[in-house]
Amino acid sequence: MDKENKDRWKKIKEELGFEHKLVWDKLSTVEKEEVFKFGEDYKSFLDEAKTERESVQEIIRIAQENGFVSMDDIRGKKLRPGNKVYAVNKEKNVALIVVGKEPVWQGINVIGSHIDSPRLDLKPVPLYEDSGLAMLKTHYYGGIKKYHWLSHPLALHGVVIKQNGEKVNIKIGSNENDPIFLITDLLPHLAKDQFQKKLGEAISGEALNILAGTIPFEEKEAKDRVKLAILELLKVKYGIEEEDFTSAELELVPSTRARDIGFDRSLIGAYGQDDRICAYTSLRAILSCHEPARTAVALFVDKEETGSAGNTGMRSRFFENTIAELLYLISGDYDEIYCRRALAKARALSADVGAGVDPNWEGVLDKLNAARLGCGVVITKYTGSGGKYSTSEANAEFVAEIRRIFNDKKIVWQTAELGKVDQGGGGTIAQFMARYGMEVLDCGPALLSMHSPVEVAHKADIYMCYKAYEAFFYC
Ligand code: MN
Ligand code: MN
Repeated sequence: MDKENKDRWKKIKEELGFEHKLVWDKLSTVEKEEVFKFGEDYKSFLDEAKTERESVQEIIRIAQENGFVSMDDIRGKKLRPGNKVYAVNKEKNVALIVVGKEPVWQGINVIGSHIDSPRLDLKPVPLYEDSGLAMLKTHYYGGIKKYHWLSHPLALHGVVIKQNGEKVNIKIGSNENDPIFLITDLLPHLAKDQFQKKLGEAISGEALNILAGTIPFEEKEAKDRVKLAILELLKVKYGIEEEDFTSAELELVPSTRARDIGFDRSLIGAYGQDDRICAYTSLRAILSCHEPARTAVALFVDKEETGSAGNTGMRSRFFENTIAELLYLISGDYDEIYCRRALAKARALSADVGAGVDPNWEGVLDKLNAARLGCGVVITKYTGSGGKYSTSEANAEFVAEIRRIFNDKKIVWQTAELGKVDQGGGGTIAQFMARYGMEVLDCGPALLSMHSPVEVAHKADIYMCYKAYEAFFYC
């Protein structure tokens, strides 16, 4: 190739082509330090927020430290541009809002993430004894691969509400000196029959029972002596009785803490990064959002992993009710049409994770349309499955707008589909946000080992995601 042709080839590739870029190549030395600092803060958040309720608590605590006040405490005063408020829904769903300079009815900027993650929930009557072992029955929540939960150290987090309304907080297993819980696995020596089964059928949902104790009640004549002893212990330690489990939300989550991965510590391995990675980055983005033009909302919802139903999920009315309250607190009056307009003219990022290319699992992604770790925040025009079913496809105009904003702010981004055509797929809250008429685009970092007890994310992507959300709130 002569020199002239070579120059042209380079020019075409650089100026006309679209390729993955490494975040690392684009960062200054100072920014590289910020990437690692941000990773430390994020890991602390993950260790504190392993359930939706704990996430809400952490988000409110951090928001309050940064000047956010509850909308319930505003009554009688009028909200002004720059004011920072929050609204909580049943301890599992929260919205943080920074009031913008423009009227709310002209449209708001929303980032919606979810704070529930796949896990095992205790059944309403969980405790039984078999073969001298006290066990707890579970019902899994969300899309899990059941084998992940065998022989993995588990912690029990959640609440028990007694019939008098008293709430007992339970958190056992996440501190180093706590006992843990475990689902025992079958030894390979005796797994001949199991090895013949399909992976999806090799472990039954009813076999996900938790080992919970062995010491018997003293009276040798008694039946189920271990169960009796555990019941007595639960009464003494936590003041709860067997019937109290019927009004409890107790979740088994991995007891492991968030850790760095790799010689270079560039990755984070932790439970619940789908979708607390977007929850934390959007939280940080709204904390650094001061006097935006358009009102900024960081919305954190529950129940995404089971289809967004229920009164704490995205299909509930909490979000629109909150915007109605906001309008009322700004003007001291309320007219439905302004709420409808605020929602219909909104711009939204459905903040959720994508799947990264994994050399161990070739063939499930179309590499041309797949995300790579370390190549920045991922925009996903549509999710869904089997011919774009069950998705909200972002309008090309809106994708273009977001692309411009990101490029202007030097955000390193990439675009991806979730997997090869007909390989499977998945949805996000985008489709439920889109019902209001707002423009919605899926946008978040890529993970490896998604929905496993140790999901993997790249620190540079986490940082870039935060920067992207920050840029979005100001647009
Ligand atoms: Mn998700
Ligand atoms: Mn998920």
